[in-house]
Amino acid sequence: MDRVLIVGCGIAGIAAARELAQLGWQPLVVDKGRHHGGRMATRRFANRWFDHGAQFFTARDARFRQLAEDLTHQGIARVWFQENGHPRYCGLDGMNAVARHLAASLNVRLNVTISRAEPAGGGWSAVSDSGEIFTAAALILTAPLPQAVRLLPEVELPGSVRAAEYDPCFALMAAVAGHPGLDYASLEHGDAAWIADNGSKASGLERGSLTLHSTARFARDHFDHPPEQVARLLWRSTGRDWPPAEWQLHRWRYARAKAPLAQPCYFSSDPAPFALAGDAFADSRVEAAWLSGIAAAQIVATAVRRA
Ligand SMILES: Cc1cc2nc3c(=O)[nH]c(=O)nc-3n(C[C@H](O)[C@H](O)[C@H](O)COP(=O)(O)OP(=O)(O)OC[C@H]3O[C@@H](n4cnc5c(N)ncnc54)[C@H](O)[C@@H]3O)c2cc1C
Repeated sequence: MDRVLIVGCGIAGIAAARELAQLGWQPLVVDKGRHHGGRMATRRFANRWFDHGAQFFTARDARFRQLAEDLTHQGIARVWFQENGHPRYCGLDGMNAVARHLAASLNVRLNVTISRAEPAGGGWSAVSDSGEIFTAAALILTAPLPQAVRLLPEVELPGSVRAAEYDPCFALMAAVAGHPGLDYASLEHGDAAWIADNGSKASGLERGSLTLHSTARFARDHFDHPPEQVARLLWRSTGRDWPPAEWQLHRWRYARAKAPLAQPCYFSSDPAPFALAGDAFADSRVEAAWLSGIAAAQIVATAVRRA
């Protein structure tokens, strides 16, 4: 029996797995995606890369700051810019390369979609959409809460967990010729909330690798509209002619938790030990998701004695 099954190889799942491994466990991480990192996501086209989820991460917590400094020394991350005296870190080869690096020593299975988990023999049995069964003494779910809740149809959960909501977001990635004249900017008005040139994240990168994020309101109003219509509307915020040299659009249904729960994670041993972790807890940011994963791992490790 795999002792702890972790669903989700975003930063929360990776943190939980690293913490458990450090405590002497052998966790298995599964993710439905093709890449590590979840919303620490990077896409490559036009000979460039584009972070289309998290743009940077903060490191206020001492443990996470240490990790950010280690990543910096290893040439995986760097301080992109400072705000209010706090560094904002980015990956030197994209955000998902940071996640991949952190998961390198872990047992991870990508392209595995868990469709349901149920209690079995004092632990858990989770089934994938291809019918593969994973058994574990404990379960840590790190998918956005509305998705995590759907995996536990037989489990009683608090109303606050069931009611958790996320804002959606569109990410438009566009390659343009030349230097766009900015590194990053929060946009106060209009349909786009953020624009950044990924080419400013490390030296030697092609400039003009733009990521635009929509406001949550725009994403809600246009969620099912045709991609080109959405992309054209977002592109207006740049004041440039349509179309850019190359572009792609990503639609995040669960981008940021609307009202994160004021606790590091949720744990219960009824009907069998399991934890819910991720950015629905404490704050909808990379750093908070990491801390939530650590908290979940520690509480699970304490609750389930290692054989
Ligand atoms: C557009 C955007 C911009 C952002 N900007 C920033 C920023 O600048 N700074 C910042 O700190 N944060 C930012 N965030 C938030 C940050 O990305 C998240 O808080 C953080 O990455 C969440 O990590 P997580 O591990 O909790 O969840 P996720 O990264 O979402 O990981 C959950 C994983 O679970 C997997 N999964 C889900 N269901 C299943 C299933 N049934 N079976 C198997 N696997 C499953 C998913 O594939 C995913 O990989 C941004 C997010 C978005 C979307």
